Amino acid sequence: MPGPEPTRGSPPGVPGKDAAGPRDPPGDATKPTPTAEALGEFDLIARYFTRAPRGAGVVLGVGDDAALIAPTPGCELVLTTDMLVEGRHFHADVDPGRLGHKTLAVNLSDLAAMGAKPRQALLACAFPNNDSRWLAAFAGGFLALADRHAVDLIGGDTTRGPLNLCVTAIGEVPAGSATTRSGARPGDDVYVSGTLGDAALALAAMDGRARLPDDAFAACRERLELPEPRVALGQALRGVASAAIDVSDGLVGDLGHIVERSGVGARIDVARLPAAPWLAAMLKGEARALALACLLAGGDDYELCFTAGNAQRETVGAIARELGVPLTRIGKITAAGGFVVRDENGSPLKALPHAFDHFA
Ligand code: ADP
Ligand code: MG
Repeated sequence: MPGPEPTRGSPPGVPGKDAAGPRDPPGDATKPTPTAEALGEFDLIARYFTRAPRGAGVVLGVGDDAALIAPTPGCELVLTTDMLVEGRHFHADVDPGRLGHKTLAVNLSDLAAMGAKPRQALLACAFPNNDSRWLAAFAGGFLALADRHAVDLIGGDTTRGPLNLCVTAIGEVPAGSATTRSGARPGDDVYVSGTLGDAALALAAMDGRARLPDDAFAACRERLELPEPRVALGQALRGVASAAIDVSDGLVGDLGHIVERSGVGARIDVARLPAAPWLAAMLKGEARALALACLLAGGDDYELCFTAGNAQRETVGAIARELGVPLTRIGKITAAGGFVVRDENGSPLKALPHAFDHFA
């Protein structure tokens, strides 16, 4: 991995006690951590966030007033931006390497939903201090994911302030071929990738609302902190899915966006929702309400929810096999407006858990 090695360090809210050592290699535990006086803004950008671009499309990367990119002829650019705020989207003590990964991952997930191939990213960030171990780990997590998807970090902004991370990601699709939220038609099947609810269940366990065996908790926590954006799946679904969205705020709310933008209705079945064994077991017991809330409205899943016509069933199955990603048919798009979730007996749930809303 060409980027700095991920290491564990004190979170940025907890400045390193040690004195300066401005050119210490990142991650060397025997060396002190540079203080704010030692590592300035431009040193910090140069050390952690500047690398030679790999992608052919980058004409000019980090270091000037703005970056220059040359889009691939015949393609449209796909742009998205997503912000992560401490206390809102993550706890201050989260592993910095995982946080770096997630900061980029949530943006690549939006590109995946549109069917785009990721190309570049810009990173605007506020850090409370310049703890070099923390920054090296954060940059390591971010750049390792960027490398896996051939994404060039081409610019950004760096300031001191309460920890706040904002990425703008740029992708490409052949002109006219992006998958949107508005193409679902009555009779289409509704699918979701992977499994749902684990990230929300991890949060519930951290808050003391759920008890999980250690291995189940570790798996759920990984879903929460190291989401894997469905980049290959999103591109494979171009021209196959009639509509798609990434599940970031919970299935009901996000499928609700497809329903609204497409001017249709939807019906999904609890019995079909793909769940890890522990969530499936919770559904049958005392913790059913929590399990339902995690599956239907948990958020942070970063799976793709999409619709496709009946005629695409074999193609969808072939994509699932080829990519090794479970794709589960969970319901249907209906002509009548409204959104129905049926329980295991086929009866509509009376109250739907609400999707996450920052201002609700
Ligand atoms: P300006 O003041 O002209 O906006 P800056 O001094 O903020 O430029 O940034 C200098 C260069 O470093 C620019 O090319 C900018 O895009 C880049 N940059 C700043 N912060 C980051 C970061 N966190 N990651 C990547 N590039 C960054
Ligand atoms: Mg400038």
